[in-house]
Amino acid sequence: MIVRAPFFGGNWKMNHGPTEARRFVESFAELHRTAEDRTVVFFPPALSLAEFREAASGRPDLLLGVQDIYWEKQGAFTGAVSAPLAKDAGAQFVLAGHSERRHVFGDSDEDVARKVGAIAGEGLVPVLCVGELLDERERGEADAVVRRQMEIGLSELDREAIASAIVAYEPVWAIGTGRTARSEDASAVHRLAREILSGLVGNAAARSIPIIYGGSVKPNNIEDLLSAEEVDGVLVGGASLDPEAFAQICGAGSGSGQH
Ligand code: PEP
Repeated sequence: MIVRAPFFGGNWKMNHGPTEARRFVESFAELHRTAEDRTVVFFPPALSLAEFREAASGRPDLLLGVQDIYWEKQGAFTGAVSAPLAKDAGAQFVLAGHSERRHVFGDSDEDVARKVGAIAGEGLVPVLCVGELLDERERGEADAVVRRQMEIGLSELDREAIASAIVAYEPVWAIGTGRTARSEDASAVHRLAREILSGLVGNAAARSIPIIYGGSVKPNNIEDLLSAEEVDGVLVGGASLDPEAFAQICGAGSGSGQH
C-alpha cells in the first residue's frame, strides 16, 4: 500500500476498550477532517478493533493497526494474536519491537525479526520500532543499538519487503516521560537509519521508506519535530488517547490538515 508522509500513528497501548474507542472515534472524526496529504493510523487494543472499524465506517482515511503479533499463523498460543488474525480484523499495519514489548515482555531482536517477517508475509506493513535506553545513550551507544535493532529486525525481509516497511525511532528515555529528543538529535539518528536502509535497499528505495519519530510527542512540539530533517512522521502514545490533542497533532505540518 502507499503510505503518504507525514505519517501519524496513535498507539493506544492497553487503553480504550470498545466503549471508549467508539467515543474517541466519534469526537476525533469531528475534529480531524479527511486530508489526502497524510496517513493517520490507530493502534488500539486488538479487542477494540471491531468497534473502532464500525464507528469509523464513514472514514476510510482512518486506518488501523495492531500493537504486536506472534509470528505463528494460528494454533495453541493462548493470548496471542497472529498476522492473519490481525488482517482479518481489518488491520493494515503492525508495530513490532515497541520498547514496551522489548523491555517489559522481553522480545529479543530475533523475536522482533520473526514478527516483522510474519507481518510482511501477510501483506501487512511492519512498523519496526527501534531506540536506545538512557544508559545506552549516555555510554555513546545509541547509534550501535539502532543499527543492531534495524539490521536484525529487518533480516527476514527481502529488498522489496524492506521498501514497504516503516521504521520508528523511539528513544526509550523519551517514551511516556515527557522528555522529547531535540529535533537535531532525532534528525541525527534518522539520518543514520536512512543510511542503514540505503545499505540494504539502495538510495532510491530508502528515500521512500518512512522513518518516524516517537517519544512524548505532543501538540506543542509536533511542528518542531515534523519539520526536522529526515522525520517523516510520528508515533504517539499518551497524546493519542485524547481526541483533541491527537487531532491537533494530525493536523500539523500543512496548516490545512484540518478544515
Ligand atoms: C509510544 O508508545 O510509542 C510513545 C511514543 O509513547 P508516548 O508518546 O506516550 O511517549
